Amino acid sequence: MVASHYDAVVVGAGGDGPVAAWKLAEAGRSVLLVEAGPFYGNERWPKPNESPGAESSSSVDDLSGALLDEQFTTRELEMIRKLVFGPADHERGFWLRKFPGDGAILQCAGVGGTTLHYTGCHPRAYPASVDEQPHWPIDYADLIPYYQEVEAMCEVTPAPVTAKEELFFRGAAAAGWDLLDGLNVTEPGYRPQPNAIRQPDPRLHVDAGYGGDFSYPDVEGDTLALGSIAGHPFPRGAPYEEKAKRASNISFVPAALRTGTVTVRPNAFVTAIETDSAGIDHPTATGVRFRDTWSGRVETVRSEVVVLAAGAIETPRLWLNADLPRNEWVGRGMTIHFGDNVMGLWDAADLESRIGQDTIDQFQGQDIAARFDYPGLGMLQTVGTAPGIGAILGFGSSASGFAFQNDPADAPWDTVGRLAGAELKRLLSGYRRMLQVLVVSDDRPHRRNGVTVAPGIEDEHGPIPLVNYEPSAGDRQRRDRLAEIAAEILREAGATHVHRSDSPPTALHVHSTMAMGKVVDEACEAFDVDRLFVADHSALANGVGGANPTNTGQALAARTAERILERYF
Ligand SMILES: Cc1cc2nc3c(=O)[nH]c(=O)nc-3n(C[C@H](O)[C@H](O)[C@H](O)COP(=O)(O)OP(=O)(O)OC[C@H]3O[C@@H](n4cnc5c(N)ncnc54)[C@H](O)[C@@H]3O)c2cc1C
Repeated sequence: MVASHYDAVVVGAGGDGPVAAWKLAEAGRSVLLVEAGPFYGNERWPKPNESPGAESSSSVDDLSGALLDEQFTTRELEMIRKLVFGPADHERGFWLRKFPGDGAILQCAGVGGTTLHYTGCHPRAYPASVDEQPHWPIDYADLIPYYQEVEAMCEVTPAPVTAKEELFFRGAAAAGWDLLDGLNVTEPGYRPQPNAIRQPDPRLHVDAGYGGDFSYPDVEGDTLALGSIAGHPFPRGAPYEEKAKRASNISFVPAALRTGTVTVRPNAFVTAIETDSAGIDHPTATGVRFRDTWSGRVETVRSEVVVLAAGAIETPRLWLNADLPRNEWVGRGMTIHFGDNVMGLWDAADLESRIGQDTIDQFQGQDIAARFDYPGLGMLQTVGTAPGIGAILGFGSSASGFAFQNDPADAPWDTVGRLAGAELKRLLSGYRRMLQVLVVSDDRPHRRNGVTVAPGIEDEHGPIPLVNYEPSAGDRQRRDRLAEIAAEILREAGATHVHRSDSPPTALHVHSTMAMGKVVDEACEAFDVDRLFVADHSALANGVGGANPTNTGQALAARTAERILERYF
């Protein structure tokens, strides 16, 4: 059993919850961090998907790199099956959400949350998306000290350049764009990705012919072997906190445990927010109720403040399933960075003359290590994937049907849509000479987009989230313009075939469903419920301009923790 009372209960140990837990605990507060999914790499759960294990963990000594190595294999499909949004016991199936069309919601349950999957890209928001779009109640400058704190903890540095990045940079320069310098981006241009991944061991880039072992302690830091979306257990053999990707389970969770005042309670799905009196106009949050996902047992814990960090879909779901005052923006205004994929294919001889080798070998380097920023539109980034994932993202799904049904005569791409048969085989057989560019657009908050619940459509935790997403004409235009720029960069880099997938909406980056200024105030406390705070991406007031959101979500969570301390402790 965990204790019955804490200073703060934080719901969700994903990207942002551990940041708030750490900051509150650093100030001496007792914190219960409740997480629906399992805790990997913790000796109290040696077989986290097979048996319930212990109940909670309060010591950094419970963390084990060797156990993480055992549990996080490099077998991609196995890892993708493991890192799902569902209970630790996968025999029980996943937790349901409804999403329109062919797209999907990509989120993980477990300590680390969706940062178990994320590729570690840690850029800041575009300043204009905070200061010039009419959504934020705070200025960009307010976030800077918190960015600095998060970037130090996550060891954010410019990603190393391998062949795929070099080719992209050459294409961008040839297309007339500038190389950007600095973290606060106000002009379009290209740059190495600021990644929350340790630099590769010097031996790997100083000695190109390094023939030694790739595991710790022979190498420290990144091994340039992709793997971020499969949990990134590199370097193998390293102690838990020495893993290269600074996902929140590797960075903020150990820091929080080290304070000695944090208890992590995995396998516990919060189903209700407790208040002092149900139904009144302005209640005060007093704790949470959660359900053990193995036994089904229900427990209630009381606290001085409740911090919701269950992610931009489950946080509004929790509110909507609780008996809390109505706020017409709860769950609404969701942004997902309406995305797309543009693929380039090169001839071997042409590549040789450009980069001195006849393959790009996208499997080398960090998954996402080069980016192109365009404040006002969004961003592009190169993606290294294994052939299966690349084929699904780039060629396997499309909102415009099969490629043979489409005539891209006047478009800057040769094919658009889903590929099959001989054409799919032809392009895929060039996997080693292929580059994928992910288009990530700045979609703006619209009230129709977001999360609702409906009685009767339920799982064991109550009515499930029903998610609606329909981009506006402006969102589509921004995405189209970015896809054109991607095609131009690929052509300038020498691609002989350019393919646009016209991907269906997929929720990879999800934000702004409990937006600051609409549902929560400038300290991220709910306008309608005292002592109820939000510290995850749902509190972001928009999609931060299309930049990868985790740095901003974490910076805001750090700021929120400080505001909690000022207001209540
Ligand atoms: C493949 C992939 C790659 C990505 N790459 C990047 C990247 O490079 N850079 C970037 O910035 N972003 C990236 N993202 C997105 C990023 O991972 C998320 O934006 C970020 O993790 C969101 O943080 P969060 O705290 O809002 O939610 P999450 O990280 O999803 O955390 C929410 C946590 O709450 C738990 N939870 C949910 N409901 C409950 C409940 N009722 N009770 C208890 N616990 C609950 C969940 O299990 C989860 O652990 C990527 C995402 C994916 C899928």
